[in-house]
Amino acid sequence: MIDIKNITKIYDGQKAVDNVSFSVKEGEVVGLLGPNGAGKSTLMKILTCYIPPTEGEATICGHSIYDDPLAVRREIGYLPEHNPLYLDMYVREFLRFSAGIYGLSDCKDRAEEMIKLVGLTPESNKRIGQLSKGYRQRVGLAQALIHDPKVLILDEPTTGLDPNQLEEIRSVIKNQGKKKVVLLSTHIMQEVEAMCTRAIIINHGRLVSDDHLGNITSQQLTEKFHQVTST
Ligand code: ADP
Ligand code: MG
Repeated sequence: MIDIKNITKIYDGQKAVDNVSFSVKEGEVVGLLGPNGAGKSTLMKILTCYIPPTEGEATICGHSIYDDPLAVRREIGYLPEHNPLYLDMYVREFLRFSAGIYGLSDCKDRAEEMIKLVGLTPESNKRIGQLSKGYRQRVGLAQALIHDPKVLILDEPTTGLDPNQLEEIRSVIKNQGKKKVVLLSTHIMQEVEAMCTRAIIINHGRLVSDDHLGNITSQQLTEKFHQVTST
């Protein structure tokens, strides 16, 4: 589903992503863990065709990021780190508009389905600018899911949410993971335990650890994280 081979990204002489390779198969929810500046967002922007890598290749559902970026984007639902929503638009209007961008024929129904799915019903008559951070994040998630993509790429989906919202958003993401491939970034260890089947740690742009969570306890993972990110 996701196949990354020797991806490197250099910004102004600085390596933000350094020769990263890994594959993600159907049924996996992968947590991309790493300290601030590790290169998580950069890698995600490359996979979603927002920026090109300096070197390397990636394919999503068999489509190359170089040869067929439009096909890649159709397969992916992306929640960016600083989710740029249209604050003046109403929730419904925005989701119908988003569905329209993908050329869906049933934009209205699809918007309603997403509103239910992510728990936006009580706020669905408001403008996006009137919503709390948690509800804006739900709008972002609804937008990422609207075209029913096979792959979800979520950049720090729960950062800045209060504990109640955290639980709800996590359960939405976990449920999606049953039907889709999910790659999410976080710097919170509990997040990975709560949602993921696999944890990949990156530090200074390099992949430094890759574990299936069935094979490692949360304490071992925490210790490993501190060990591999201490440099
Ligand atoms: P993370 O998401 O893990 O916090 P990023 O991918 O945002 O990390 O950043 C990785 C590194 O690349 C950081 O050192 C950051 O300062 C740098 N970086 C990110 N975006 C740019 C950019 N547009 N221009 C120059 N440097 C950048
Ligand atoms: Mg980031």
